[in-house]
Amino acid sequence: MKGIPRKVDQHGRITVPLATLRSLGLGPGMLADVCVERDVAGNPFLVVTPAEHTCILCGAEGAPEDFVSFRQKRVCNQCIDTLCNPGGSE
Ligand SMILES: [Zn+2]
Repeated sequence: MKGIPRKVDQHGRITVPLATLRSLGLGPGMLADVCVERDVAGNPFLVVTPAEHTCILCGAEGAPEDFVSFRQKRVCNQCIDTLCNPGGSE
């Protein structure tokens, strides 16, 4: 796997392009889980995933019962309601 070289800043941070984050289902303001895993040869690599219980569409956080899983992504019940009833109930 080949990636794009990114420089670690003086605070130990790496900037990830927004397009890359979006491909992971992440956007500005969303929480991400970051962990280190190892491949079969024992080489470490980072895994970045949306934090559980965060809506992939609006970034809302909440209790597990406030979300529906769709294709391994979480969508909040409010976004589901909006998608199913885009004109609203007024
Ligand atoms: Zn939502």
